[in-house]
Amino acid sequence: MSVYLDHAATTSMSPEALAVMTRELGRTGNPSSLHGAGRRARRVVEDARETLAAAAGSHPSEVIFTSGGTEADNLAVKGLFWARRDADPRRTRILCSAVEHHAVLDTVEWLERHEGAEVVWLPVDEQGVVRLDVVERELKNDPGSVALVTVMWANNEVGSLQPVPRIVELAKEYGIPVHSDAVQAFGSVPLDFRASGLAAMSVSGHKIGGPVGVGALFLGRSVSLTPVQHGGGQERDVRSGTLDTPAIAAFAAAAATAAANLPAEQQRLSGLRDRLIAGVLDAVPEAILRGAPGNGRLPGNAHFTFPGCEGDSLLFLLDLAGVESSTGSACTAGVPRPSHVLLAMGLDEDTARGAQRFTLGHTSTEEDVTALLKALPEACARARQAGMAGHESSIQTAATEARSQGG
Ligand code: PLP
Repeated sequence: MSVYLDHAATTSMSPEALAVMTRELGRTGNPSSLHGAGRRARRVVEDARETLAAAAGSHPSEVIFTSGGTEADNLAVKGLFWARRDADPRRTRILCSAVEHHAVLDTVEWLERHEGAEVVWLPVDEQGVVRLDVVERELKNDPGSVALVTVMWANNEVGSLQPVPRIVELAKEYGIPVHSDAVQAFGSVPLDFRASGLAAMSVSGHKIGGPVGVGALFLGRSVSLTPVQHGGGQERDVRSGTLDTPAIAAFAAAAATAAANLPAEQQRLSGLRDRLIAGVLDAVPEAILRGAPGNGRLPGNAHFTFPGCEGDSLLFLLDLAGVESSTGSACTAGVPRPSHVLLAMGLDEDTARGAQRFTLGHTSTEEDVTALLKALPEACARARQAGMAGHESSIQTAATEARSQGG
């Protein structure tokens, strides 16, 4: 059995979510239908809305169900941009952190290419935390031209928590709406949508023990948003499409479990994470921890660069040794690219290529950490031998070598 250390990519469904989903998959009814089956499905959806709202500190009417985090991000960023620009054509500037997930990053770039948006990339410090002095300066510099600010709650690669409450405070002075992608933070650290003052906040089911393909946008009741997809207007006329009752019910069940377990899990996972970090730095002394230290990072995130190792070689060698991890950033058409997050933190390309992310979740145990620490020194040594020369060939060399030595 492999040791799974990639919970930030996706995590297994909680038993509660699985039970609810299985039950609902065996039933029928469109929540928009008026007959008994429809009304029953509607009750399930509205109960789920209340449960999810309670888990995130929002009012149920502020929950807009979507097909996942990517859709919620697209809806928030495009929807806020269009609504704000339509109300005042001068509002074309988007203040966006340089370390966003591609669901936000590519959306903002699309608005720049096709809709005349002017993007201000908010820089981060060496720990991957957005620089508040720049946010303040950019807001002050012609606030009337700002459509929105978008800064994630926690970074998906290096795990750093962002100063979102302070950014909201700064933007509030000028009445500028702030969106936060809280996909990695929701269920891991305490979140309260109402108290945050955010205009919009994105979350996703499959990161918290719910199913893939469902998520939500929390949207303040007085916030105007232009829809991205058009149709039946099921969700507050802002999001169209037949609601996925089984997935929504399971998502809410997972959120309730995550919320109930949050304080204990936060403590348990931080402890495991700290043991993992100390163990890695001990086993491979040249490894460098990236992201913010201690409570400044997600409880389940540990991210390192390993000098002289190609991240993909290391991933592959660890996989052969039965440990599943990630480089943290996506390949583009099969070609590993240095992460935009690490580059924004000031790393050079070669250093950034040595990235490896280990993320813990609800099924993680002490034994998982022990297995990683056992496999890591040899995997690192082999990855270093394979070297950095030619990324694809180094992966092949590492694989061939590992196989010839019995993996
Ligand atoms: N935003 C962040 C920070 C993420 O980590 C992810 C998933 O990796 C997403 C958005 C996309 O969410 P989904 O997979 O539900 O579309």
